Amino acid sequence: MASGENRETFRTGWSRLETILSHEARQGASEQGNFVNDPVTRGSTVLFSTIAALNANEASRYNHELTYGAMGNSNQFALEKLIAAIEGGAQTQIVGSGLLACTFALQAFLKAGDHLLLPDSVYGPTRRFALKTLARFGVETEFYPPLASEEELAGFIRSNTKVIFAESPGSHTFEVQDVPMIARLAHKNGAKLLLDNTWGIGAFMPFEHGVDVSIQALTKYPAGHSDVVLGAVTVTHDEDWRTLRDEAIYMGLCASPDDCWLTLRGLRTMALRLEKQSRNALELARWLKTRPEVALVRHPALPDCPGHDFWKRDFTGAAGVFGVELRSGISPDSVERMLNEFEYFGIGASWGGYESLVLPTYGTITRSHRDGLPANPAFRLQIGLENYEDLRRDLERGLKSLEKIV
Ligand SMILES: *Cc1c(COP(=O)(O)O)cnc(C)c1O
Repeated sequence: MASGENRETFRTGWSRLETILSHEARQGASEQGNFVNDPVTRGSTVLFSTIAALNANEASRYNHELTYGAMGNSNQFALEKLIAAIEGGAQTQIVGSGLLACTFALQAFLKAGDHLLLPDSVYGPTRRFALKTLARFGVETEFYPPLASEEELAGFIRSNTKVIFAESPGSHTFEVQDVPMIARLAHKNGAKLLLDNTWGIGAFMPFEHGVDVSIQALTKYPAGHSDVVLGAVTVTHDEDWRTLRDEAIYMGLCASPDDCWLTLRGLRTMALRLEKQSRNALELARWLKTRPEVALVRHPALPDCPGHDFWKRDFTGAAGVFGVELRSGISPDSVERMLNEFEYFGIGASWGGYESLVLPTYGTITRSHRDGLPANPAFRLQIGLENYEDLRRDLERGLKSLEKIV
């Protein structure tokens, strides 16, 4: 653990998960004996002893029971149970990627003629799906500023607004949103609130804040080892579960037993990894703030991050991923050289694995509203499980190499 921790600005909510992650969603002991981890079970056809049994099985499609391989498998059902417990929801559908979790949830709750509100800070591929695919099916998308006030956001709502989507904090720019306010507005207008809660896993309880549908990219901390791509959609109301589950079946969505098994294995240690990675991330964020080369650190637990007060009110922890914006007057070439030459920060997309990553976020992200874009060279850091001092020295070496434009 890094030194100098300030308990006032950082609380860890993951202790709630420790016992759940160790005990939920495994078959446990039996007379004949079981392995601690459930085995991987593969299959397409499910055999029934009689036609009557086959017909009776029809009702089990909503109950996480075997029907046919494309409608789910035992490992998938176990993972669904664990994710529902983590999110504090009633039912979860696992799908093949985090992006698919976003796109499938949108598709399940929208139809031709509907109006969709996306936050301007939404994950880029979710934005692309709305503009490319949903548009082809007659859904109109509009982008609202992620920190819009209640009055401003109300101005975006129309009679046919059926889904408001939130992502808190926003991808790359880390605006923390006022989710309870957005939920109030959505429900007043008969719309659903969908939230991409990937960053907030275990630290933001979506259904306690009025969210109807919560999305997780399990590729991140749950799988945790940069070797699985998987997603989850969780709901709390029975009616929403029927909508979601029916759509999953209509589309043939399911997940590989191996990927579900690996993700379950990753989840057993997630609280421990999150705590260590997040503490070191916050300590590095604080250290970066003191550097003369740095203009702004976009870490939700730091007071100058946009929407910090909402983080303080609604979250019990902060993930180990944050943004860094450099001061103006630093040459872009020297920034690129610095990113290339980091020893421990790999250059690559995604996050939540055990290894540290860096990704430039300057000139690569799209916004419809002008405010919110970093004004200067910026990058995102994912802090892995490496030693804190090794990472700090690596960053320090890089920052010292930056050249001023004269
Ligand atoms: C990574 C990510 C996704 C997509 O997850 P994949 O499994 O990589 O498709 C969606 N939303 C957020 C916020 C993410 O960070």
